[in-house]
Amino acid sequence: MAESEPVAKLRAAGLRPTRQRIAIAARLLCGTARHISAEQLHDELSAHGQPMALATIYNCLHQFEEAGLLRPVHHAGDAVLYDTNLGDHYHFVDVETGTIMDIDPGDIALPDLLDIPPGYEAESIELTVRLRRKN
Ligand SMILES: [Zn+2]
Repeated sequence: MAESEPVAKLRAAGLRPTRQRIAIAARLLCGTARHISAEQLHDELSAHGQPMALATIYNCLHQFEEAGLLRPVHHAGDAVLYDTNLGDHYHFVDVETGTIMDIDPGDIALPDLLDIPPGYEAESIELTVRLRRKN
């Protein structure tokens, strides 16, 4: 029998497919890219009849992060958002709502003005454009 997509993704990342991990993987890893907080995921799982303790969700998100399935985005105020888009990209952040939108790196030509200290090379570049609605 073929494995479901969430189960296959968990196994490929070296995570045992528990019921909780499958439920979260199905919501986060098997559709369009998203940015979501643990609290938002908690509400979403409850609304879909899969209630889960917030602590369990935090644990799962952390395990997903360690396994390279998600990456945290820290620019949205207090809450850490988890990004399911693992490719190189940047972010717009709505400072009022905390909503994050992806910026395609192809849309931006970064100037080559970084004076990187000797002995280092850039591992990654983070760019966040903070947005405020016009009055
Ligand atoms: Zn993103």
